Amino acid sequence: MDAEVGTIAGRVRVVLDEIRRAAVRAGRVPDQVRLVAASKTVPVERLREAVDAGIRHLGENRLQEALPKIETLDREGVLWHFIGTLQRRKVKSVVGRFETIHSVDSLALAEEINRQAREAGLRQRVLLEVNLGGEASKGGFAPTELAEALPALSELSGLDIRGLMAIPPPTPTAEDARPYFRQLRELAQALTAQGCRNINMQELSMGMSDDFPVAIEEGATYVRVGTAIFGARGEQVHAEK
Ligand SMILES: *Cc1c(COP(=O)(O)O)cnc(C)c1O
Repeated sequence: MDAEVGTIAGRVRVVLDEIRRAAVRAGRVPDQVRLVAASKTVPVERLREAVDAGIRHLGENRLQEALPKIETLDREGVLWHFIGTLQRRKVKSVVGRFETIHSVDSLALAEEINRQAREAGLRQRVLLEVNLGGEASKGGFAPTELAEALPALSELSGLDIRGLMAIPPPTPTAEDARPYFRQLRELAQALTAQGCRNINMQELSMGMSDDFPVAIEEGATYVRVGTAIFGARGEQVHAEK
């Protein structure tokens, strides 16, 4: 079993096992937590290994990188998630190609996705990204801003708004990230209580390699895990150049 730890298949098994244990600790059903393998900079051959090991959800940050991967790894049952910063002029190519866009960080972006989705005759599943730490370097709705934007968002019939996503500020330990995860869950509850039609807040996309078990204890339904599955990204970035 130890010999497996160095392989993608072995790491996928370890992560899935940690997900299961965290869910059980929190009295949750493990199937309610979906593992999104965050695969930026990872070559498609390695994604194939992950899919062979049971990964169903792949999360990409950049459209240019994702498109050839989606074409090459054209497997039944694989769902692609867009998790990176999305520029408005790229929206047209993202809509309909990704099962869920996790990173809708402004009303203007939501409106553009709505426009393109309606033009394509579909409803795009999205999550609203929240800037919990108030960090200037990160995008996302401020919590109060989101409450204000909700009525306008609920009018966008090309969007299927399913919940919230956050990338908390870096913390020294996973435990230190817990208050942020809890804050996202409580925000989703508060927004649900606001009672806007067409808006569903049941999905929480939170937790990465260093802290996903804590995020699951606090209610995550998607965890986005890269390094713990594929290893450190540094070398692959080089290889791409
Ligand atoms: C890279 C990335 C992750 C995964 O980060 P790891 O620390 O490697 O697990 C999760 N979410 C987003 C938005 C990312 O860009």
